[in-house]
Amino acid sequence: MNTQTPDRRRFLTAASAVALGLPALAHAKADPYATSPYRKITDAEWRKRLPEASYQVLRHEATERPGTSALLNEHRKGVFACLGCGLPLFKSQWKYDSHTGWPSFYDEIPGALGKKTDTQLALEVRTEYHCARCLGHQGHVFNDGPRPTGLRYCNNGVALKFVPA
Ligand SMILES: [Zn+2]
Repeated sequence: MNTQTPDRRRFLTAASAVALGLPALAHAKADPYATSPYRKITDAEWRKRLPEASYQVLRHEATERPGTSALLNEHRKGVFACLGCGLPLFKSQWKYDSHTGWPSFYDEIPGALGKKTDTQLALEVRTEYHCARCLGHQGHVFNDGPRPTGLRYCNNGVALKFVPA
């Protein structure tokens, strides 16, 4: 499936972040979770309540090693929710095998994610997304996904929990 060279892929990724225009959309509406108790949890408290790998991803935008998530093989019907606060983010029917080694989805539950432009990597502009409620980092969204959206939500498995239907 994935026949693109790394250079070609990088180019498409940078172009896609601009084309998506998602950060502007994210700020269009008032924040419905502004007063959520999850927003008041301190970094030290998050560290206590989350497994270390999940804490590093959710609270400090670390990236899990590809191919390590147990959720790669999760094919039951249900929802994938934020491990930090339990907000449902993705439905199981939107999950697909992107061959990247990270759980991947082509759509999101409306209102579940916030987004921002990520310039951590100098050569690549990416669109970061996070849980709209607790603001925990989940992954990055690219526009090389399958139909019907053409989007690829590339998610850290340790930031999610699966809830069977
Ligand atoms: Zn959350």
